[in-house]
Amino acid sequence: MTVQPKATISIAASALPKVAWGEGLSVYDTNGKRYIDGSGGPAVYCLGHGNREVNAAIAAQLDRIAHGYRYTFTSDPLEELTALVAGACGGGLTRMVFVSGGSEAVESALKIALQYHAARGDMTRRRFISRERSWHGNTLGALSISGFRERRAPYEGALIEGGALISPANAYRPPEGVAPDALPAWYAAEFEETILRIGPDAVAAFVFEPVVGAAGGVVPAPPGYAAAMRAVCDRYGVLMIADEVMCGAGRCGTWRALAHDGVEPDIMTVAKGLGGGFLPLGATVYHQRVAEPIDRVYGGVLTGHTFTGHTAACAAGVAVQTIMRRERLVERVHELGPVFMNLLRRELDGIEAVGDLRGRGFFVGVELVADRALKTPFDPAEKLYIRIRNAAFERGLICYPSGGNVDGTAGDTVILAPPYIATEAELEEIAVLFGLSLRSALAEIGA
Ligand code: PLP
Repeated sequence: MTVQPKATISIAASALPKVAWGEGLSVYDTNGKRYIDGSGGPAVYCLGHGNREVNAAIAAQLDRIAHGYRYTFTSDPLEELTALVAGACGGGLTRMVFVSGGSEAVESALKIALQYHAARGDMTRRRFISRERSWHGNTLGALSISGFRERRAPYEGALIEGGALISPANAYRPPEGVAPDALPAWYAAEFEETILRIGPDAVAAFVFEPVVGAAGGVVPAPPGYAAAMRAVCDRYGVLMIADEVMCGAGRCGTWRALAHDGVEPDIMTVAKGLGGGFLPLGATVYHQRVAEPIDRVYGGVLTGHTFTGHTAACAAGVAVQTIMRRERLVERVHELGPVFMNLLRRELDGIEAVGDLRGRGFFVGVELVADRALKTPFDPAEKLYIRIRNAAFERGLICYPSGGNVDGTAGDTVILAPPYIATEAELEEIAVLFGLSLRSALAEIGA
């Protein structure tokens, strides 16, 4: 068995093939090689590629007008998308701003939380509590609350200070000695202690991913966690911000990921699956009760960029969300999620390095460990997660290597997040190719 030298393992931009076209789950490069999109890129392409109906809706909008500046005009796409998103969210999450992606949605969420407190005359609530091993985006505000320490490192000292990172809710790697049933109470107690340490009057909001994506390799919180955290938020007047950029818009089999837990946040972000990647689109959705003081004092949220509520991007969102609803795709994800999981179980059966296979709907993470009983990670220098991605790519499978084992404190993780339109045959193709790729990547490191 040949063990490759560690230094050669990377995804070099210079070595990337050129993309040519795509249809459904298939993507072709300019050499004619086909790839099956097992992760919807970075969990974005919920309708797959090349959807004619979405393309036509965008083209029709471009023929009318590409962009009617949000602060001069409203538009049919903007109003229709607002109604579709509010309907999909249900409850009091009726207000929103549309932005160009996930990081911008997170920035707006943080600012709306600060405006809410300011409008109530509470200028001391300026701090955010978020979690280790979370990813909220690449802008400085989002990095300030991200628990992806390796990605924050170059910016330390320039980030928003004074907040805190608390434990990620992870049933596979729980705090030592805490039984599964006791996890929600343990995490809620840690949260409460952190609020009390920072000062109950200083905390503006708690920000979390209901199902962690890029920084943890798909980690759904244990049952009861979100409700326990909501109770602490309510006790101390701390707003709850659910970052559903990756896990939302149906990916977990409910339109809002947090609906699975029966919890309504005060503010929510959504992006990737909202516009399906056809055009850049994200949204910050906020509750009517958050809007009330802001409207009264400021006459509406003080946020806005040149492309806020971009007309053609909203038209793309309307087309994607209309198809999602008409074709009952979220229900489909809910129904086929367990089928996909079973296929993966079958294909990964007997691979000792699979420490955890977890997820919800079409959002699945695989965590690889050197010792299953001890949950010991592989040597991070092996970059196993990149090797798996490369082995899969070679075989024509796109999967998403996520930042699990960057520092040796958790296993390597890889994400599978197929488009919601995937057939059972396509789910099987993904599972089979993934199993083969995983076996060959493990063989490379002699595992
Ligand atoms: N929040 C979460 C949970 C994400 O997964 C991401 C991106 O992966 C972001 C925010 C940032 O989104 P974007 O890359 O569109 O700026």
